[in-house]
Amino acid sequence: MNVRPLKATALVAGGAGFVGSHLCDALLERGMRVICLDNFQTGRRENIQPLLNNRSFSLVEADVARDALPDERVDCVFNLACPASPPHYQADPVRTMMTSVVGTLRLLEMAEQHGARFVQASTSEVYGDPEEHPQRESYWGHVNPIGPRACYDEGKRAAETLCFDLVRAGRVDVRVARIFNTYGPRMRPDDGRIISNFLVQALQGREITVYGTGRQTRSFCYVTDLVRGLIALMDVEEAPPGPVNLGNPGEFTVLELAQLIHRMVPGPSEIGFRPLPSDDPQRRQPDISRAAALLGWAPEVPLREGLRRTADWFTLNLGPAARPATA
Ligand code: NAD
Ligand code: UDP
Repeated sequence: MNVRPLKATALVAGGAGFVGSHLCDALLERGMRVICLDNFQTGRRENIQPLLNNRSFSLVEADVARDALPDERVDCVFNLACPASPPHYQADPVRTMMTSVVGTLRLLEMAEQHGARFVQASTSEVYGDPEEHPQRESYWGHVNPIGPRACYDEGKRAAETLCFDLVRAGRVDVRVARIFNTYGPRMRPDDGRIISNFLVQALQGREITVYGTGRQTRSFCYVTDLVRGLIALMDVEEAPPGPVNLGNPGEFTVLELAQLIHRMVPGPSEIGFRPLPSDDPQRRQPDISRAAALLGWAPEVPLREGLRRTADWFTLNLGPAARPATA
């Protein structure tokens, strides 16, 4: 990283998860030391297994909201600790909110003690079911505060509040990424999010489960593009004075995605329809002009290419008993 000495140390909270494990890989490739902190709620040991023999990597099994945090000196903290898939974060909603709120505050205080930079993995879910399209960082959002998604959405919103309260108080150098739907290798087959569900269903010849009419939209970012954006956000000399959207602006309906995957993966699967979960946002597309201007960042991997890479990974890594988690 441009302002940190070689062998600077990064703490990656949530580092055994889908995005976190790719981030650990990328930081190690840049010559950094990496401490991965994870409680394995949704993360998996196999995501970081190849790193366990690397002397620049260490694993701390701990809960960000409850357990002692590492006392080793760190130069930067990436906070990705929080289940991100609706069925997983809704399974224990109080725990999800505590992870976001208490966990973020504890990590911020740790960063303050160490004088470390901090990147918070926030989410496009802070925009809720948006009335502004595409979503710019200036939009305050439209979130149901008492619905089943609120533990995640409001937890992440409160975490952003803590971040900017500590910035205003001059206590921590914080950068907040609002991440839009991201996919790629190492998603769990039972993750429950759309791309892992559709790919696993198609590869196993099951029904591809479209929720609702499938007319709702999402914009899908390949994981290596996101990781490049998170590192650029940590690297930039001056912290942006507010959150920065990271995502791929290509917008697709859920039905278009189902049809694309159905055509891409040969086999007997058919597209079927299931009820729409409550509070499911109707449209989502990032405006990434701030990320382009402040970080010189833009995604590079087109959807078809990213889906192909992800399908190839699932083909090699799917156990026979793996099943998607469906609503
Ligand atoms: P994930 O569920 O694979 O990863 C989350 C990781 O955090 C897991 O390894 C989990 O075990 C760990 N974790 C959860 N609670 C913890 C706790 N209390 N203490 C320690 N570790 C804990 O999800 P992901 O897709 O890799 O998401 C990573 C981060 O990025 C999350 O904070 C998520 O909210 C954010 N994000 C992801 C997306 C996306 O589309 N992937 C979109 C928006 C935001
Ligand atoms: N979805 C779907 N079938 C599935 C999983 C998800 O149709 O098997 C839909 C879901 O209703 C939503 C979109 O895909 O409209 C994205 O869902 P995901 O859980 O991946 O992310 P989020 O809703 O948090 O953006």
